[in-house]
Amino acid sequence: MLDLPSENPISQPSSDLDAFCNILLSSKCPGILTGAGLSAASGITTYRGTNGQWLTTNPMEVASLQAFQDNPGRVWAYYHPKRDQCIAAKPNAAHYTLASLSLPSVRSRIFRKLLQPDKPPLYVTQNFDGLCRRALDETLDNAQSPDDRLDPDERDAAHARLIEMHGSCYRFTCTQCKCVKTTAETPLALVFNDHAVIEKAKNGEETIAVEHLPRCGGPEWSGSNRYGRCGGLLRPGIVWFGEIPEGQGEITRILTKVDVLLVVGTSSLVHPAASYATTVKKNGGTVAVFNLAPSQGDDKADFVFYGPCEKTIPDLLEHAEQLLANAE
Ligand SMILES: [Zn+2]
Repeated sequence: MLDLPSENPISQPSSDLDAFCNILLSSKCPGILTGAGLSAASGITTYRGTNGQWLTTNPMEVASLQAFQDNPGRVWAYYHPKRDQCIAAKPNAAHYTLASLSLPSVRSRIFRKLLQPDKPPLYVTQNFDGLCRRALDETLDNAQSPDDRLDPDERDAAHARLIEMHGSCYRFTCTQCKCVKTTAETPLALVFNDHAVIEKAKNGEETIAVEHLPRCGGPEWSGSNRYGRCGGLLRPGIVWFGEIPEGQGEITRILTKVDVLLVVGTSSLVHPAASYATTVKKNGGTVAVFNLAPSQGDDKADFVFYGPCEKTIPDLLEHAEQLLANAE
């Protein structure tokens, strides 16, 4: 048999959970970025996957300011059922595990070398389904340890670390008085009870009159022109194509300190994961991808763990806890 000369070694990402846990446990500033894959197990349709929505819908026709200005009824007909889907969905084990890192008791056990021990990790999500926030609220509400009974300021700090960069399906902005509202109420206007109208409006076969769409002051708007009750058309509080994502300054500021970045449920190649990963790597940090299946660009990560996030993320924390227990 011929001895083939060894080629230049190409550095491949590792799947060594022990090795990654050891790096995570000594992190001084961990960061998390989540994408659609995180919510797949909660039943939220993804955009670019096998059954992705953008395969059947042109995003520019429903997810841009121009589209909303041209035909607000069509955009609402697209978003309202989607919002209902998000409200009906429940966070999964991955949401809860990531939320648990905001609890002081969990954080002080897992991350013993934090630069800012009183601050939860930077937690950025690209999802507007609100599930990361709901998991965080429930986790804070149900925490048992006395260390985890947060006062209102600490709770606000935990919330502030969770950045929903693409907005939230619970939020709306009045196009007239610019008031921002947050509500889980549904439907937002009676017209959304008529599924036939919604289907036709979605396909552009019918238009919904603006006065039937969600308005500032609610369906029973009484003609007031006061701030927050002005009767103006509401727009979904979602960041559309061509708009600036939320929290960019805060993300950039913290990202320069992040030494371990968990990329969960999103391809590491697409924006923003790609640029976040580049920043972290440039500063000597470690990037780990947790995604259902391999995607292009994963070879730039230091670690990759394939499988459903609702399994790989709880497994990660369990393994880290095990290592800590063994070391004691
Ligand atoms: Zn208004």
